[in-house]
Amino acid sequence: MDVSQNLTEIKARIEAACRNNNRNSEDITIIAVTKYVTIERTEEVVDAGVLNLGENRQEGFIEKYNHFGNRVSWHFIGSLQTRKVKDIIDKVDYIHSLDRLSLAKEINKRASTVKDCFVQVNVSGEESKHGIQPEDVIQFIEKTSEYANIRIVGLMTMAPHSDDKELLHKVFRELGELRDKVKQRNYQHAPCNYLSMGMSNDYEIAIMEGATHIRIGSKLVGSNM
Ligand SMILES: *Cc1c(COP(=O)(O)O)cnc(C)c1O
Repeated sequence: MDVSQNLTEIKARIEAACRNNNRNSEDITIIAVTKYVTIERTEEVVDAGVLNLGENRQEGFIEKYNHFGNRVSWHFIGSLQTRKVKDIIDKVDYIHSLDRLSLAKEINKRASTVKDCFVQVNVSGEESKHGIQPEDVIQFIEKTSEYANIRIVGLMTMAPHSDDKELLHKVFRELGELRDKVKQRNYQHAPCNYLSMGMSNDYEIAIMEGATHIRIGSKLVGSNM
């Protein structure tokens, strides 16, 4: 499928979800997840006007970064090994996968400016998923205050792979409630305004529950180019 056609459909669905939930679609950032596709295919999505790209592996990110540079904003969405932080940290704009203190410490040490991070939360409790347990999030965020180069801009989660809409609503709603709790505390280093949640199969539900950043791969650029 043509990327611009896919984008038109996704934008129409975003508009509809926003309209039904009293939200403004300008508050939603589409991150094109390009981890499955080539640079050529990625060109198409950039040409279509999507200027936020997401990659989940250091190698794939560096390859795309070397091509597109700072024409776009870069979102690192995959689990990040501590020893790879130094190779990517000054190239990425956002880290969506902050999930442990040792990683925060390394980011703090290697970044030359303040880095915008999302704390990844394992809301669903699946063992295969990365992320901080919901009940540990506040304490984790408090501990990151000692790292001057870390700004917690939001929370991120991955929903279970499921068609159970109620379950998806519940997972996303829980992340939203947790975000509200963090915000109420007015931490200087953690404005926590954002919610990174929703992928190809569940982004409309995520928007209903307050997502500000949706990460879309297969439905936008495809998955096996
Ligand atoms: C791959 C990936 C996505 C996009 O997945 P699709 O279902 O293809 O839209 C979003 N977020 C993360 C963290 C991913 O690894």
